[in-house]
Amino acid sequence: MVVCTCGKPAVVKTSWTNRNPGRRFFGCPTIGSNCPFLGWLDPPICPRSVEIIPGLLRRINDFQEEEEWKKVLNNHYLMDLVLEGYGAEPIAEYDAYSKIPKDLRKRILTWLRKQAGYYEML
Ligand SMILES: [Zn+2]
Repeated sequence: MVVCTCGKPAVVKTSWTNRNPGRRFFGCPTIGSNCPFLGWLDPPICPRSVEIIPGLLRRINDFQEEEEWKKVLNNHYLMDLVLEGYGAEPIAEYDAYSKIPKDLRKRILTWLRKQAGYYEML
């Protein structure tokens, strides 16, 4: 059994960094602890996967964000929240909300995710 520096049984985690996408490692079970890195469980990721996986992950994230944005557009409470809290000005420039550019959508979604009850409203 692998034990971390705090003396607890290590847990298996998965890295999603660009250099080690999907590679499992041993880590401290305490969330947010300063326990040092314990080592890899999986061998190094092959160069081809390092090249391909981050791009696939980005596409999945973009797709999920697109779906989330559609839900926000169809939810009056959430749109009101955006208009009140985020500020109507950047949105007023676009006659249809669906035309709001990607980077601004990302900023609005980031802000919305911090609002209480957001995930329950989706
Ligand atoms: Zn630990």
